[in-house]
Amino acid sequence: MIKFPPVILVGGCDIRIVYPHTFKERTDLFGQYDHSLREIRVVGVDGGGSLCAPFHTMTTFVHELIHAMDFHTGHRIFENNEKALDGHAETWCQILRDTNGLRFLLDE
Ligand SMILES: [Zn+2]
Repeated sequence: MIKFPPVILVGGCDIRIVYPHTFKERTDLFGQYDHSLREIRVVGVDGGGSLCAPFHTMTTFVHELIHAMDFHTGHRIFENNEKALDGHAETWCQILRDTNGLRFLLDE
C-alpha cells in the first residue's frame, strides 16, 4: 500500500486524502475528487478484490489531484475531458518515475 499524506495543500486549500477508500455503490470507480468536502478518494482494492498496483494507484491519485487543481484554478479544462486527464496523469507519473533527480528539484 502506498503511504499518502493525510492532507495535501492545493492552491491554499487543504485537501484530505482518503486511502484506501471503498465505494459502496460502485465497483467501477478507482478514485474521486469531492470538491464540496475537499477530499480525494482512492481505492486500494479493485472491483474484483485484487490489490491495485502502485503505479495504477498513483495515476489514480494524480488524476484526482489534477481534478482538484482544475477546480481550484477555476479553469475546469478537464471537467468533461476524462480521457485527456487520464493521459496527463499517466504521463506525469511516468515522468516522475523515469527521470532520476526530477522529484528532488523542488527540495530546499
Ligand atoms: Zn476524473
